[in-house]
Amino acid sequence: MSSQVVPQTMGQQFGRRSWAEPWKIKMVEPIRLISREERERAIREAGYNTFLLRSEDVYIDLLTDSGTSAMSDRQWAGLMLGDEAYAGSRNFYHLEDAVRTYYGYKYLVPTHQGRGAEHLISKALIKPGDYIPGNMYFTTTRLHQELAGGTFVDVIIDEAHDPTSTHPFKGNVDLDKLEALIKRVGPEKIPYVSLAGTVNMAGGQPVSMANVKALRNLCDRYGIRIYLDATRMAENAFFIQEREDGYANKSIAEILKEFCSYTDGAWMSAKKDHLVNIGGWLAVNDPDVFDVARNLVVVYEGLHTYGGMSGRDMEALAIGITEAVQDDHIRARVGQVRYLGELLTDWGIPIVQPIGGHAIFLDARRFYPHIPQDQFPAQTLAAELYLDSGVRSMERGIVSAGRDPETGDHRYPRLELVRLTIPRRVYTQAHMDVTAEAVKAVYDAREQTRGLKMVYEPKYLRFFQARFERL
Ligand SMILES: *Cc1c(COP(=O)(O)O)cnc(C)c1O
Repeated sequence: MSSQVVPQTMGQQFGRRSWAEPWKIKMVEPIRLISREERERAIREAGYNTFLLRSEDVYIDLLTDSGTSAMSDRQWAGLMLGDEAYAGSRNFYHLEDAVRTYYGYKYLVPTHQGRGAEHLISKALIKPGDYIPGNMYFTTTRLHQELAGGTFVDVIIDEAHDPTSTHPFKGNVDLDKLEALIKRVGPEKIPYVSLAGTVNMAGGQPVSMANVKALRNLCDRYGIRIYLDATRMAENAFFIQEREDGYANKSIAEILKEFCSYTDGAWMSAKKDHLVNIGGWLAVNDPDVFDVARNLVVVYEGLHTYGGMSGRDMEALAIGITEAVQDDHIRARVGQVRYLGELLTDWGIPIVQPIGGHAIFLDARRFYPHIPQDQFPAQTLAAELYLDSGVRSMERGIVSAGRDPETGDHRYPRLELVRLTIPRRVYTQAHMDVTAEAVKAVYDAREQTRGLKMVYEPKYLRFFQARFERL
């Protein structure tokens, strides 16, 4: 990995020029590549939807970084310390401590995963007819806001919708767009701003500290709360350390805590940053919001000291939180994503720039300019990549965007992407090389590729279960 992308101060801080993983491998899980004919059959039987493939038929699995991380020996040891009492488990208090220490919020409600927390906060705060502004939608987040009767409004800066813009903080909120919305609908119709760092659907793009501070000022003027989707906020902190004046010598943990201090609470999919296979939480500062959420959690998730997790899950999570905010961990994590992205960039393959925190996003519009968006270019590309090499990726385009609840028509997002998501601490640089070569092979064959038609469409979050056929 070239050292040019790493500021000099970081090299000095670590006593070396390049990043290397701050761990060694103690246990391995064999993987295998099935034949081309077997892959043809597998993807056809999966309706050309990579979510419907069997994991056994996948060689390198870059579907998601969700729940796919490798746990450390300490986390595995933590599993043996599960206190499986129904109420008041010791592990809950460890978890509460870790969240308070690194995120700084006062009250914790555990949930089984991120969407459990999204459900609680949406139900607790949103009334029918409300508007929820946010820096780009996320699939499950927006759905819970809509199911609670709200309307999501995208207030991210325009650059976020342009895969070629190299803005260093493409996750930033456009404060003018937000203020225009506040003036149009009135602050009493906006229960909170839904802020995410990094922004998954924009390509893992960060929010700057300056932006969250300015957002806090604006929201204070109108009495509006800010809740943070903290799912990949540790990765966001890395970009602040790397790119924002005044933060090069602050630790990831310090930056994370400062950022959270400008918000009123957060929900978390611990399956991402926190290096566990399952888990999540909601944390807030307002005792009244806590009261409502703690009451709702017993209806939908479990008692307020486990919320759908076992004691051992909470222990592994508490340990994972501490590991997730270590500077050398994040540097190697983002460094590996960047390694893959730089290979593809060098070979002239269109990807979202700048390279984000958790994934490489292939730009299917520029890959397949001859495939119209309603023939699902990104879905096609994900299927082709699997066929070529057994690498599993995910569509993030028109299928993921779903239908407009008012008109019933497809939403046509500007970004038509395929996500190659890198699990944490799982694959080596050689897996990244093989993946890059596979993308190159599919790119070289792009002109012969035709699109897909959708033959089955579920009502909610259709990208998970939709089926397609070749045109
Ligand atoms: C994964 C994710 C969620 C939902 O969390 P789950 O644990 O999958 O339920 C919410 N927001 C973002 C940004 C995510 O990536």
